[in-house]
Amino acid sequence: MTQEETKDEQAEEKYKYSFDFIQKKLEGKKDSYGMLMKEIVRSGICTECGTCAAVCPVLEWDPVVSQPKLIGKCTGCGICYNQCPRTITDPIQLMGEFKTGYVANTNIPEVIGGQDGGTVTSLLCYLFDEHLIDAAIVTMRDPANPWHPVAQIITTKDDVIKASGSIYCHSQTVDSLMEAIRADYRSIAFVGTPCNIDAVKKMMDSPAGMLRWFLRSNVITIGLFCMDSFSPETLYPMFEKDGIDLAKVTKMNIHKGKFHLYYENQEEPVKSYTISSLHKYKSSSCNFCTDLTAENADISVGSVGSGPNKNTVFARTGIGAEIIEDAAEKGYLTIEPYNAINLNAVLFLAKLKKVSQYTVQKRKVFIVRDAHDREEPKIKTEPVSDDAKSLISSRRAISVSKALNESNKKLELTLTNTAGFSLDNIHVRIANIDDVFESKPWLTTIRELFPYESIDISYPIESLEGSVLVEASTDTYGKIYSKTLKYEPKK
Ligand SMILES: Cc1cc2nc3c(=O)[nH]c(=O)nc-3n(C[C@H](O)[C@H](O)[C@H](O)COP(=O)(O)OP(=O)(O)OC[C@H]3O[C@@H](n4cnc5c(N)ncnc54)[C@H](O)[C@@H]3O)c2cc1C
Ligand code: SF4
Ligand code: SF4
Ligand code: SF4
Repeated sequence: MTQEETKDEQAEEKYKYSFDFIQKKLEGKKDSYGMLMKEIVRSGICTECGTCAAVCPVLEWDPVVSQPKLIGKCTGCGICYNQCPRTITDPIQLMGEFKTGYVANTNIPEVIGGQDGGTVTSLLCYLFDEHLIDAAIVTMRDPANPWHPVAQIITTKDDVIKASGSIYCHSQTVDSLMEAIRADYRSIAFVGTPCNIDAVKKMMDSPAGMLRWFLRSNVITIGLFCMDSFSPETLYPMFEKDGIDLAKVTKMNIHKGKFHLYYENQEEPVKSYTISSLHKYKSSSCNFCTDLTAENADISVGSVGSGPNKNTVFARTGIGAEIIEDAAEKGYLTIEPYNAINLNAVLFLAKLKKVSQYTVQKRKVFIVRDAHDREEPKIKTEPVSDDAKSLISSRRAISVSKALNESNKKLELTLTNTAGFSLDNIHVRIANIDDVFESKPWLTTIRELFPYESIDISYPIESLEGSVLVEASTDTYGKIYSKTLKYEPKK
């Protein structure tokens, strides 16, 4: 063997050693080539750097389609995923900075068996008992409207216990915080989802932040882990249609990809849904949210990563750690050390959330069908029910913008769902208006349009100046749009 060949062999051996070493390190994680393809390549954010192919013996760069290609058996080790400049793999990037973490559960008898470990409720009880706070901002159920969230200022331990439990909808917590500050409460605990916590953080830190100039109280923030929240206007009617009596529901819980509803004293859920089946009831904002673990809170509390009736807790600030440890010392909580957390489970979910921004793709679909020789499209004018009528009259359901394409004589219409929830089976009718007469009617049905999603429609026109009538209706809400849009060439 020549000296050159020996060198090559040694380098190859060292490379193999490193590859095996990293493979071992990544064991148990769910990163893989499949995830690289789904999150990075197919979502269109691959930079074509070729790193993934450079590090793996069974991957090569395919110059024809400009993406990595498997040429052997993938072990699913995730090495390619972990080198890619576009993936997010660093734990700090995924979960934010924290001092330490715990698995925690309550020792307060009335709280045991509540939402998860009852940690948030126990911490608030401790803070009130120790006179460390004089008010807390929590979210309770609206007594007049089952399971609708109402943010509240509370000042007693009794109310802390009444406020326990999760409501999986947006709650306007900051409004109550401002009210509490204006009412001169001096030390306030604020409980909220990561987006609520971000609002408070921004109000405190930004140069134009209201709390930066007006904060007269100490605020301790307790953030809840959060993957999704739902629109009560559409989710709850669906539950009711499925025979659920919301007034009888005592607990809602998301666990292992399922949304469970419980009635009082029942161990088994009265109904369960997979989260994927509830996608269209999700609040549109949550599709663009990247923070699972309330990275800006003093204390973050969730369920993923800990066992049943327990919480995963991160203390992110010194005061956060002190509160948790003192509450545990005084018997409000039992805490287990950081290594009791199933960190891989938290990291996996945090990663799904961080990459959700990449995988939400706007559908831009060109759909126009000629209505000639077809049955005239039906545009329902009356809403089907009073509920539907009041819901849709309180919102603008869709908006339409137009642009004239002079070169190919097309009117480009963009239809956007502005209702804030998904619309199904939207029947769209477009017709040319000649004086008062309609001609060339075109129709299409959009099967599903997600909140704030847009669909492009190209409508052919004969002259470069004129008007078109655009109408839209759905089976549930009747007519939701009707307008004559004028167009003319740019001067
Ligand atoms: C919209 C939403 C989505 C969530 N998604 C996840 C998830 O994907 N993974 C995960 O691990 N955990 C998630 N959680 C957190 C989880 O449901 C529990 O809140 C958390 O584990 C704390 O449990 P606990 O037993 O300490 O709660 P408790 O001791 O019962 O205390 C819960 C506290 O949350 C407050 N609260 C309830 N609903 C809201 C709301 N809508 N907005 C603001 N505050 C509220 C209550 O006032 C109460 O003080 C979510 C919570 C919410 C509100
Ligand atoms: S074997 Fe190669 S392609 Fe498969 S996950 Fe590992 S590094 Fe990626
Ligand atoms: S490492 Fe990532 S960005 Fe680079 S080519 Fe592979 S998938 Fe694309
Ligand atoms: S997913 Fe994000 S935006 Fe939606 S409620 Fe949770 S923290 Fe807020």
